Amino acid sequence: MKNIQGQGQSDPAVEDVLAKLAPEDRAVVQGALKRAEKTEAELRFLADHDSLTGLVNRRRFRVELDQYVSFAARYGGRGAVMVIDIDGLKGVNDSLGHQAGDTLIRRVAEILRERVRATDIVARLSGDEFAVLMPQTDTAGALQLGEDLRAQVAEGMPLNAEVDGATISVGIAMFGGQGEVGAEAVLVAADQAMYEAKHEGRNRITLFHAAGEKGAAASRPQTTSARIRDALTQNRLRLATQPIRSLASGGIERYELLLRMTGESGELLPAADFIEVAERSGMVQELDRWVVTQALELIGERERAGAPVSLHMNISGASVTDLSVLEFIERRLDEGEADPARCTFEITQTARVEDYDTAAGFADRLTEFGCEVAIDDYGAGFGPFAYLQKVPFDVIKIDGAFIRHLPRNDADQLTVKAIVEIARGLGKRTIAEFVEDEDTRTLLQEYGVDMAQGYHLGRPTDVAEGLAPA
Ligand code: GH3
Ligand code: MG
Repeated sequence: MKNIQGQGQSDPAVEDVLAKLAPEDRAVVQGALKRAEKTEAELRFLADHDSLTGLVNRRRFRVELDQYVSFAARYGGRGAVMVIDIDGLKGVNDSLGHQAGDTLIRRVAEILRERVRATDIVARLSGDEFAVLMPQTDTAGALQLGEDLRAQVAEGMPLNAEVDGATISVGIAMFGGQGEVGAEAVLVAADQAMYEAKHEGRNRITLFHAAGEKGAAASRPQTTSARIRDALTQNRLRLATQPIRSLASGGIERYELLLRMTGESGELLPAADFIEVAERSGMVQELDRWVVTQALELIGERERAGAPVSLHMNISGASVTDLSVLEFIERRLDEGEADPARCTFEITQTARVEDYDTAAGFADRLTEFGCEVAIDDYGAGFGPFAYLQKVPFDVIKIDGAFIRHLPRNDADQLTVKAIVEIARGLGKRTIAEFVEDEDTRTLLQEYGVDMAQGYHLGRPTDVAEGLAPA
């Protein structure tokens, strides 16, 4: 476990917010904070690590990659980034169950950890996507490790008699040497190479070649960013709604809108598969504007039909810090088609403290309109309490990473209880996501969580099919 610096003992921001609370609220919040301190080690670990595999998460990987790439640019040096995605995991989940899918993810993580050098950094970026940062390696070394990993997974993991062994697709991008590239560009390049490996039939390794470089593929398969651009212009974006239920009554209080994209051959891609690339390539603001437009139309439509709904929209960090997106939302709200009180904007807690004021400004303006603001994925990352103090909000959405294994994980239970207590002390409501079974639902209700969503409480359905009845 890496030791993370900068954990203040007495945070002035915390002191400040405590001082503003009524004495009885202060006692509640102080109690919760004390208990939260007990789980500090777990919290710190979780902030930088993925709970399923114990590998570092995307956030931490980005910090390490940024550091190493700028170091290499300044002082010379080189390295490689490898992006690895499990082939056909959805099929494994469908045929053998989610548990088998989880086991496969864990097994691949183990192989990665065993095989890389001590100085390499292995991360789980999301779902079934991993990354390895290899400092001081050349192309041959990177390709060799890629091949080693591919072979290990392919040979080492027969799943069962009916299902072929699992395989991975690997994309590699080099950095350093001549020509400076940013960390962002390296990750995008490795990602593109990985998609190329998928396109060429999976269970293989592809090295990224810059356009025009010797060896570049004559016709490159479409990259994710190109696919997003096409989906935007060809009306291939779709919205699904997932019910958010009151834990007390069981009734549907609101719905979260989930963005999806249909691929060229009609397959449905969840936002998780393309939102990171959209963020990295600066296209996410366009996607957010599209979602807001659709959401306000839907709210207006339902209002006129006498069956009003409240909707949650996800706004990416890039849009929160982009004033033109805020202005766009304000213009839409000004048109008056939708009741602002039925609009909740979910914003994620930004990693950079410098962005707190911008996020606060964004939340302030929307609150003035009468909209709600929800803090999404709460609990993952640092300085969360200071963030709650700075950014006005109505609802905290507890990060699904703490919910997924709740009945079996004591640290998760402590964390969720602490978050609920803090939210209550501040007079705010809580939502739990990723509720996948009855045990989890019961525990959340016991802890006093207000609302919940997840497969156990309602699967997402395409907007075109209508909303699940409240
Ligand atoms: P491809 O060969 O193109 O990679 O297809 P795939 O089926 O692996 O699908 P893709 O990589 O596009 O998406 C990953 C899927 O993995 C989506 C989701 O169903 C599943 N998944 C994501 N996270 C988890 C997890 O934590 N546990 C399990 N069991 N499944 C997950
Ligand atoms: Mg996959």
